[in-house]
Amino acid sequence: MTEPDSALRIHVKGVVQGVGFRPFVYGLAARHRVKGWVLNSTSGVVMEVEGAPSALNLFCRDLAELSPPLSRIEEVERQPIPANGHLRFDIRESEAEAGYVLISPDIATCETCRKELFDPGDRRYRYPFINCTNCGPRFTIIEDVPYDRPLTTMAPFTMCPDCRSEYDDPLNRRFHAQPNACPVCGPRAWLAPSSAGEEDALTAPEGDPASSGMIEACAHMLRSGKIIALKGLGGFHLACDATNPQAVERLRERKGRFAKPFAVMMASLDVVRQHGETTAPEEEALIRPSCPIVLISRSPGSTVAREVAPGNRYLGVMLPYTPLHHLLLNDVGGPLVMTSGNLSEEPIAGTNKEAWDRLRGIADGFLFHNREIYARYDDGVWFIPSVPGEYGEAVPAPQPIRRSRGDAPFPLKLPFASRELLACGPELKNTFCLTRDRYAFLSQHIGDMENIETIEHFETSVRTYEQLFRLRPAALVHDMHPDYLSTRYAEQRASRETLPLLGVQHHHAHAVSCMIDNGTTEPVIAVTMDGTGYGLDGRMWGGEWLIADAGGFRRAASLEYLPLPGGDAGIRHPGRTAFAYLHWLLGPGFPLPAALQLEEPEKRVLARQVDRGVNISWTSSCGRLFDVVTALAGGCLHASYEAQGAIEMEMLSRDAAESYPYGLRLTGQSLNWGETGCLPACSRFHEVALAPLLRSVLRDVREGRSLGDIGSKFHRSIARMAGEVSRRIAEETGLTRVTLSGGCFQNRLLLKLTVEELRKHHLRPLLHRQVPANDGGISLGQAAIGHFALK
Ligand SMILES: [Zn+2]
Ligand SMILES: [Zn+2]
Repeated sequence: MTEPDSALRIHVKGVVQGVGFRPFVYGLAARHRVKGWVLNSTSGVVMEVEGAPSALNLFCRDLAELSPPLSRIEEVERQPIPANGHLRFDIRESEAEAGYVLISPDIATCETCRKELFDPGDRRYRYPFINCTNCGPRFTIIEDVPYDRPLTTMAPFTMCPDCRSEYDDPLNRRFHAQPNACPVCGPRAWLAPSSAGEEDALTAPEGDPASSGMIEACAHMLRSGKIIALKGLGGFHLACDATNPQAVERLRERKGRFAKPFAVMMASLDVVRQHGETTAPEEEALIRPSCPIVLISRSPGSTVAREVAPGNRYLGVMLPYTPLHHLLLNDVGGPLVMTSGNLSEEPIAGTNKEAWDRLRGIADGFLFHNREIYARYDDGVWFIPSVPGEYGEAVPAPQPIRRSRGDAPFPLKLPFASRELLACGPELKNTFCLTRDRYAFLSQHIGDMENIETIEHFETSVRTYEQLFRLRPAALVHDMHPDYLSTRYAEQRASRETLPLLGVQHHHAHAVSCMIDNGTTEPVIAVTMDGTGYGLDGRMWGGEWLIADAGGFRRAASLEYLPLPGGDAGIRHPGRTAFAYLHWLLGPGFPLPAALQLEEPEKRVLARQVDRGVNISWTSSCGRLFDVVTALAGGCLHASYEAQGAIEMEMLSRDAAESYPYGLRLTGQSLNWGETGCLPACSRFHEVALAPLLRSVLRDVREGRSLGDIGSKFHRSIARMAGEVSRRIAEETGLTRVTLSGGCFQNRLLLKLTVEELRKHHLRPLLHRQVPANDGGISLGQAAIGHFALK
């Protein structure tokens, strides 16, 4: 006696496309003898299954429990339907409907493909574009959903019979692997010297690409100190031998990047261990499918040239994530510098022509290929904080410094269902954020919105996201700074499309991004130690204690305002800022350290500026205070990138108990913004007075103490301030959770010490774990604030 058949329609939402989900369903159907069909739709995977009720139950159980490793199921809808009498189980053509699907980010070459790549008997031996359903390009090649070959940049390549049969076979590892290809039918790479004519250089040569020896030739150039522009997954890299100081120096000069560290690619974890002292969580981060750059401690015996990361105790390291990288690293035999293919400040180059035009003055040769990059991605950068995780976890959670390839556009989960909004992000380290339902689609790193190329990258990326995720923002959110180009974009678009518009304070956005990162919308004490952001009073904030939730905030404390000469331009000259701070706090005639190297006329001009308040920005920035103390103690006077001085000091500092004195003043009322009804009252405003600190720093400089000694005490001082002021706010408000956000908390020593100080006062620190503490995380906070404020 058999049971009568029943049937279900099942809709699976989440990351279910491009991860081998349909062949998985096909296999399950065969195992449990159920009939019907499955297809990709624009809103996920849809299937109809029919069979004995007991078989359907087992099918549904396995669907949830055994899903492919790269998939992530967010929601399963099941609906009983009448049985249709299907005779087989089919994989049907994809279907477009209203809705959206979560797309998988790009995934590093899997172990199985890597073995085939180096197997002389395999038909893809040394083929630089080998991939399968478990690995390969995704988001960088998708033009639209559903994720199917015709809507990717693989469309121009017609599969050969061998590839086609793999692609059509539900039991094959390459079943519906959209970028499936081989040397016969797929994309090809070629090497062009910079001296070639443009047409020759940009045209793919005929012949078998794998046997042409171009990877070997490229490896030879790299070994002999040449610089190669290399087309990767999300854009071009500039590569050179990381153990050759002259090659690295030449790359710095030609790229116009003089001090900022370069990332290094190493062939395997074994090689990484020869150059760095890695911890278990760092190794886990290195081998994630996203294959990010991870900051690790450099070992003293490493042969990587010092010029790669001057004065830095860390190395930014990543493993090869495309077959082309594997081949090249294998043939070169040593670590390679891999830095974004751009001139400083420009976005990463994406097309062959663009790279040829922009990088010819830098690279000696180009390793091109003819698979187009649809969306450009820089490499992601992560670090593992050296503090124990929360809730007594033994393993600290990794934190991103740059969230990009391999992570974006994988959405973050919101602790509320959001309206459809676009948050346009800040000026520096821009990302934007689109929200819908419980998802926040935080973009990849866009860059510093200071030139036309980056603005275009921003606008193109916004359009791509809105198209792919079928989003139409109902309101726009931007930073309060009136001059940011992201603010202008928001204003112009809002007026064009008659959309509501909201300006959000920079540090409030930092605070809320850290709250969302920790899955909470309940009020917190938000310590934000940052560069600068536009404040409610028009001054440049940046050392802030807020009482905040997503609806509003009270500014409960800050570092005192000090004069930043020449406004934002002054950021490049910490020595001048140091003079201005001292002149303001200690008056004329204080003993100026010789290290500042200021001439009399320059000092007179600066003193006059400060006395008259002309061409001065008043700032409570913690980042600037770091710069100033570094300059006073004999460190960096002319910064070629943001926070250069602070990083220099961090690298020489250590965990010390000693600290500098500072004052705490009560000065009137807190400043409020937004809906503050849910926030505990706070009648007092604390201001941290810095004259005692700077006076003590000057004394230590006079006594000849080193930058490392002074830096160690200074780090502890900032951490103590963060702890003590938070405790006072906690006593008045009853709040106990403290978010730590802002660019300064990328400083690992400061982060560790601050966590220690907060715990001394029985306060619970909340750290970033999915979005950066720096401005790269701001758009997430903006979006959440927008949702509550515009309700
Ligand atoms: Zn693979
Ligand atoms: Zn083929």
